[in-house]
Amino acid sequence: MGYLKQIDVENFKSWRGKQVIGPFMRFNCIIGSNGSGKSNVMDAMSFAMGERVASLRVRRTTDLIHGAHIGQPVSHTASVAMRYCQDDGEETVFCRSISGDSSEYRVNAIHVTLAKYLEELEKIGIITKARNCLVFQGAVESIAMKDPKERTKMFERISQSLDYADDYEKRRGA
Ligand code: ATP
Ligand code: MG
Repeated sequence: MGYLKQIDVENFKSWRGKQVIGPFMRFNCIIGSNGSGKSNVMDAMSFAMGERVASLRVRRTTDLIHGAHIGQPVSHTASVAMRYCQDDGEETVFCRSISGDSSEYRVNAIHVTLAKYLEELEKIGIITKARNCLVFQGAVESIAMKDPKERTKMFERISQSLDYADDYEKRRGA
């Protein structure tokens, strides 16, 4: 299993111009004071994973452009590129950019449809329609409120250990 190595942002939310977030390790923790941009990192990742804009704490796609929150967007476009590193060292770059009120998608700089983009993400194990990759602010509370059995089920589903549950029970009984 590979890992997300770096995110290149350009005029996305709190990042002005071209900036690099990372490099990341296999496990990462983002800390910072209130309003410093922690959730914006999640928003950037979600954006690059094809998430619908409504989940990114804005009303319209163009609100994601740096400065748009105060009515002064610095550009007509913004982009987020996720550099994903596979175990063999090969890198795949998933880039989503804003074009008017919609988005453009590129895999390794090649323009693709959203469907193809999501298909390529699935190849590295990111299944956005399963909605199990990211936990948005606020969702943390709802997860904490689940009863322990429900929460266990959720983690089993996310980690895919549910796929092995029957086999495990069979072997345990054998
Ligand atoms: P908290 O700890 O309160 O959850 P946080 O670290 O998650 O805070 P974010 O919500 O990620 O903070 O970032 C908020 C900051 O992002 C604000 O300072 C806001 O001005 C800035 N911001 C949001 N949208 C834009 C934008 N389009 N252009 C520039 N800055 C923006
Ligand atoms: Mg936050």
